Amino acid sequence: SPTIGVLALQGDVREHAVALAEAGALARPVRRPEEIADLDALVIPGGESTTMSKLAVSFGLFGPLRERVAAGMPVYGSCAGMIMLADKILDGRDDQETVGGIDMTVRRNAFGRQNQSFEADIAFTPSPDRPLHGVFIRAPWVESVGAGVEVLATLESAPHEGRVVAVRQGNLVATSFHPELTGDGRVHEYFVDLVRDAV
Ligand code: GLN
Repeated sequence: SPTIGVLALQGDVREHAVALAEAGALARPVRRPEEIADLDALVIPGGESTTMSKLAVSFGLFGPLRERVAAGMPVYGSCAGMIMLADKILDGRDDQETVGGIDMTVRRNAFGRQNQSFEADIAFTPSPDRPLHGVFIRAPWVESVGAGVEVLATLESAPHEGRVVAVRQGNLVATSFHPELTGDGRVHEYFVDLVRDAV
């Protein structure tokens, strides 16, 4: 089975580790640069992307992470993890850094005050038989994508109809929502399959 790290600076690390194990991967929390080197893939969990950015700077992680991403390591980012994979962010802090790698612009805390947290059924194109239940917690949305980015899910009902909430570019996958909180393993299975194809 592939070894998939879960970036354990901050956020819901344990839930991702459980979901990855259920999808057949060996999951391990990682937070030091030398722990990144021998991973087959990485998950960046939800949490608070500004805090994650600060901690990643102080742990010296951005260099090794960007190198591995550039070399093709698969990474899946959920919510704050989506922000970490975006080449550009809107409404970020001035000093906020991202790993980048997906040619997209992501808006932080995009869904507005009344709706900062909500749930919605969404069609996930890799698993079209039945919708996924999306849990959105102060989530970002994808404001725009470059030509190389595949859209995997958009919201289908008002007031946020048409908003892009899941994407893939190469070996990088990102979702605005939190599949690790729903007991539905399809996003993690999709990612583990991608990792198996990549290694
Ligand atoms: N609002 C958070 C951020 O900007 C993301 C929230 C989450 O990951 N649940 O980083």
